Amino acid sequence: MSGAVALDHLTKRYRLDPGKKVALDEIPTDDKAGWSKDDARPATAKLWKRLLERQEVLAATDTHALLIVLQAMDAGGKDSTIRHLSRGLSVGEAEVAAFKAPTDVERAHDFLWRVHRRVPPLGKIGIFNRSHYEDVLVVRVKELVPKAVWKARYEQINAFEALLASANVHIVKIFLHISKAYQTKRLKRRLDLPEKHWKLTADDLRERKRWDEYQRAYADALERCSTEAAPWYVVPAEHRWFRDLLVARIVVERLEALGLEYPPPTIDPKDVVLE
Ligand code: AMP
Ligand code: MG
Repeated sequence: MSGAVALDHLTKRYRLDPGKKVALDEIPTDDKAGWSKDDARPATAKLWKRLLERQEVLAATDTHALLIVLQAMDAGGKDSTIRHLSRGLSVGEAEVAAFKAPTDVERAHDFLWRVHRRVPPLGKIGIFNRSHYEDVLVVRVKELVPKAVWKARYEQINAFEALLASANVHIVKIFLHISKAYQTKRLKRRLDLPEKHWKLTADDLRERKRWDEYQRAYADALERCSTEAAPWYVVPAEHRWFRDLLVARIVVERLEALGLEYPPPTIDPKDVVLE
């Protein structure tokens, strides 16, 4: 594994410092930081084990929550990232919320309403498959609301996330970064496999034509909304085994940084006699 970036230093390469300019076309989508698949898979399995332990302590202490926000272009691998990360999660203490185009009821509320309701309670881990960021991405590109409305949302999002952080809901935000050529390859595969056809919609094919506009919208969202309390990570997502390693590491690091320990016993085990 000579030349590979050590796990301890890995995640900070991909974290966006607050206020830093973001040029997505300068960030590689196929980076693997010197890792090989053979080394990454067992390292990832170890991280999943640590994640299970941390999740248990999180549930036992019931004082903190973790929210993982996942965003990507179509075919960026959100579903598969969640499937893999779930190997380090017990389902009882974790919940995935997927956000599609809003319903009439959702549209009748402010854009954060449907999202706020799905924020994990203390003791739990929540994963957002798409999120409130769609309200400055698809909504901006498709011009679903006036410019003044989506422009105000960056600050609204930062205020919302700061509120969550102050309530002990810790947030990590992950953008799965792919190139247009990689998207083409993945969409071709979907066309070749009948069991994947359901994943392709006419809308996806239309949106693909606006690749550059989406990349600009993503760059703005990442730049304006990467904060100390809720940083964005740009994860190169074309080597899926590297993506899984990095995502697991980001999540484990965040949880371990909380320094939580099992609560002290409320009984003295020595005094207990089980009849
Ligand atoms: P999928 O994740 O493939 O099931 O697709 C969900 C679709 O819902 C995507 O095309 C998103 O762009 C769309 N979507 C999610 N949130 C919003 C939103 N707030 N406004 C409009 N469309 C949205
Ligand atoms: Mg889709």
